[in-house]
Amino acid sequence: MKMYCEKCHRVFEGEKCPDCRKKAKREVEPDDVCLLTEKPQIWADMLSDVLEQNGIPFYTKGVFGAGLAIKIGPMNERFKVFVMYRDLERAGDIVDELFNTPVENGGDDDPDDEE
Ligand SMILES: [Zn+2]
Repeated sequence: MKMYCEKCHRVFEGEKCPDCRKKAKREVEPDDVCLLTEKPQIWADMLSDVLEQNGIPFYTKGVFGAGLAIKIGPMNERFKVFVMYRDLERAGDIVDELFNTPVENGGDDDPDDEE
């Protein structure tokens, strides 16, 4: 059973969201917006192009926000890429192909998270 955290847009198995550690409120639904991955701008742009070519609706959001992006330079800003749950598996395959990193749990590609 896949659960969904509305705050983090995370899909996960188990009781608690891996990001905010809150208890899951409900199961994921096909229309839910899910975090696919987080990438620096150039990669997020590339991924956006490929998602578009595949007809997968998505949206991106800067992680730091506009103010900080200006300070550190726009090329260093990281972007979160979201897709709907119904497209998550397909989009995950695309990410996999593009970046060669396994996407097993809905887009957790943070290298610091590895155990
Ligand atoms: Zn959460």
